[in-house]
This record gives sequence, structure tokens and C-alpha cells, in this order.
Amino acid sequence: MKNIYPSYFEKFKCIADKCPDSCCKGWDVVVDDETNEYYQSASGEFGKKLNRLMKIDCDGDRIFVSQNGRCPFWNENRLCDIYINLGEGHLCKTCREFPRITQDYTVFSEHLLSFACPEAARLMLSNDNAYDDFKNYDLDFSQCDYNAELMRFLLGARDKLKNIFTDKSLTFSLCLDIAMQFCKKVQSSIDNLDFSTDISVDECCKEDCLHQKPLKHIFDMHKDFDIMTNEWREILCSASSYAGKQIPEQYDDLFKRMALYYIYRYFLTAVDSMNVLSTANRILCAYVVIGSALLTGEYETEKLFCLYSKEVEHSTEIF
Ligand code: SF4
Repeated sequence: MKNIYPSYFEKFKCIADKCPDSCCKGWDVVVDDETNEYYQSASGEFGKKLNRLMKIDCDGDRIFVSQNGRCPFWNENRLCDIYINLGEGHLCKTCREFPRITQDYTVFSEHLLSFACPEAARLMLSNDNAYDDFKNYDLDFSQCDYNAELMRFLLGARDKLKNIFTDKSLTFSLCLDIAMQFCKKVQSSIDNLDFSTDISVDECCKEDCLHQKPLKHIFDMHKDFDIMTNEWREILCSASSYAGKQIPEQYDDLFKRMALYYIYRYFLTAVDSMNVLSTANRILCAYVVIGSALLTGEYETEKLFCLYSKEVEHSTEIF
């Protein structure tokens, strides 16, 4: 099994009580079976508290009962009582792994961090050339349970998509416009089960038409998603009045780094879903919503990238 990591991966370290948010806030923590078995045997007052504060939710998952929208073990010093009382090794799988994400494609695994963690977002937004190792997989796909031909086609297309967003001569909105056209051509090949055509980026029109397209519906769509916090509801409302306005190029580098994250996080999932347009749509939506929120001048930049990920990207499979 080949494991591939972006350059920022090793640098990540949870900043615990220095974290401006917390992964314990707003989300229900799902406790896996193995950890639950250990918690059942935990003794003393802390063991009793652990078991008292777990319940089965409507999806059948075992979760901690949140208190005021936060994990009951996140203490007033912004530290985790389970970590303090039982040690890191007895955190549940969700807490041990977050914000690390593993994409397992049988013969290779790609490892990423989630934008929903402020420290991970800081690393991702400040690192260029982070995905240089995500290419040229000379692997034997014959034992995989997915279509190897499609996977090779997607890997080749993903390299070209990456090249669009790393071209320093292009503005972000032009990159996005070209990427949308390119993904439509790739999608058409997938729909026709034609995985042999070498689709060229040069065939895509190099005119920036993004801001001539109607974008308001993107906000209407986001207002219909499950919204976790009032803060996000307010951001969506104030940002929607800037829909379609030009987003300053000063943010282009940040959006290009964000786009690469979405490409490496989602593009290859088309080997199952047969859908590459969803990756392009994710980038478009994140750009329009975060970019419009930046135009309000009211919110801190990195925080918007995090909140978007926490509220939208991680909510459900929506694209
Ligand atoms: S969100 Fe990230 S930095 Fe903050 S507590 Fe969780 S893992 Fe640590």
C-alpha cells in the first residue's frame, strides 16, 4: 500500500486550549465500539460520568450528549477531560483522528487534513506546492474492486486540473472558469464510458465569464442546508447581498490553495460516484460564499474558510 501525504501534514499539531474554535463545538462526537467497550469498564466517578453522558442518537450512533452545543468533556480551560483523565490513547476514534482524513483506494491511500480545524486551515492556506507527491502512481490496479481504467483516467485529469490552479499567470476566477469547462468535458467522457480520450485544457475558452453568471442561487441553496450556528446564518445573510460582485485578486492565492484541497479531497471519489462536476461545484460554491463574505469586511479570513468547511463541507453529502 502506497501512502501519500501533502507537505503540511507532518507539521500539524493540535493547539488545544489555544484553538480559536474546537472540534468539540457544534458537532456530536460519535463513540466507536472499541472505545465504548473501554469506557464501559472505566471505574470511579469519571467512569460513571462517561457512561451517563453517552446516548444513541436518531441515526443509531453512540454519541456524547452535547451540553450547550459542545462536548460535555470539553472543560472550562478549553481542554479535554477524557485526555486528562484517561490519556490520548483512550480518546474515541473520531477525536484521535480529527482533522486527519484518509482516502483509501485499496492500493494507495491519500492523507489530508480537514479545513474545519483552524490550525489545519492555517497550514493549508500558507503552504504552496503541498501536493507535489500526489502524482505518477505507478501501481498495479488489477486487484482493485473499482474500474482501473477509470482511475487512471481520473488521475491524469486530476493532474491537469492541478496545473490550472497552480498557473500563476491566471487569476483565480479564470482558473475556476477553465476548470468548470474542463470538468464538463471529463464528465462527458465518463458518461460515455470513454476513458481513453486525452482531454486538453487548451480546448477550454480562456475568457473570465464567472461573474457574468447568476450566482444568487448558490446562497439560496446554502440557506437550505442544515445550519449549525447563528453565526453562520448571519454570515450567509450579509454575504448574499454581495453575490456576483468581483472578489478582489488579493485573495487569489488562498482560493487556489483551497481549490487544490477540494481537488485532492474529492476528485478521485468519482471512481465510485462517476461524478467529477461535484468537485468543481464545491470549489465554485466555496469561492462565491467565502469570497462574498470577505467583501463584507466583517469577518476574519481564515475563520471563514474553517466555518465554511465545518458548516457546509462536512454537513452531509450535498454536492
Ligand atoms: S479544531 Fe483542530 S486545533 Fe482545534 S482542538 Fe480540534 S484538532 Fe485541535
